[in-house]
Amino acid sequence: RAKSSGGDDICFYEARFHESAEERRRLELALRTALENAEFDIHYQPVVNAETARIESFEALLRWHHPTLGDISPAKFVPIAEETGLIGAIGEWVLRTACHEAAQWPGNVRIAVNLSPRQLLDPNFLLKLVSALSYSNLKPGLLELEVTETVFLNLTPFTKKVLQQIHSLGVRLAMDDFGTGYSSLGYLRDTNFDTLKVDRTFVKSLSREDPGSGAIIRAVVALAGSLGMTTVAEGVETAEQLDLVREYGCDRVQGFIFSDPLTASDARKLLMARGAISAAA
Ligand code: C2E
Ligand code: MG
Ligand code: MG
Ligand code: MG
Repeated sequence: RAKSSGGDDICFYEARFHESAEERRRLELALRTALENAEFDIHYQPVVNAETARIESFEALLRWHHPTLGDISPAKFVPIAEETGLIGAIGEWVLRTACHEAAQWPGNVRIAVNLSPRQLLDPNFLLKLVSALSYSNLKPGLLELEVTETVFLNLTPFTKKVLQQIHSLGVRLAMDDFGTGYSSLGYLRDTNFDTLKVDRTFVKSLSREDPGSGAIIRAVVALAGSLGMTTVAEGVETAEQLDLVREYGCDRVQGFIFSDPLTASDARKLLMARGAISAAA
């Protein structure tokens, strides 16, 4: 009996394996035509000042609506876009579209755009960046590029130079999901990051009952301060988490407690109506 049920398990897993390989192929195929079929759009999530709740920036988050497969999460399709190289064209579209949108906003609200490490390896990346800025007429200081710690995994003299050149254009750099990947503090010192985004996992585990739960955030805030960077707490969902990240000295806050990612028109409306939002989750 045990043997035959084991056999069933194997069949079950094999079926699932085929299904996911099948799904992966289907997504890859659909992804190849997604740009030309205009299936992407960008949602914008406010990042607010921790003290005043004023909106300081929006993060551009890519959305894919496929006519038959439905809405597909970036957590699912961005890795496929990276493996296939499609991220080059998709990322360039995100950069141009987000800069163009942000250039219409009132005030000095910044826009943060996620960058795949692969885009930084593109010898034409800097040209594309300059082109997006001039096409949109966005002030370089209002653009921030978010990259994860994986850039440090192969930080060649070339990528180091690209990071420097980005910075000398006046464009800001943010280290995304800090603390989850390969962090080398030495690299952080040797590069020009303006912002550290403390990953949601550290915010999620915060609790007043467990004073040790804030140890990593406190340490990251202190580190950022001494290296001249500011901090963003990602994924703040509850009033308790908000109170704690404020206490720990995070400069800015992003999360569902303030707002979900919004359509471009809702983001614009929010900015026109008021510069600050209240934490009403
Ligand atoms: P990320 O850059 O760390 O973006 C933050 C993610 O956290 C977003 O997920 C956002 O919707 C989600 N989030 C914000 N507040 C909360 C909260 O309070 N609670 C929870 N549970 N989640 C929250 P999203 O939009 O699904 O994006 C996932 C990831 O996909 C992003 O993580 C980023 O790594 C990647 N991504 C999204 N857009 C792009 C893009 O244009 N280019 C590239 N290369 N990657 C992108
Ligand atoms: Mg990000
Ligand atoms: Mg992040
Ligand atoms: Mg994250």
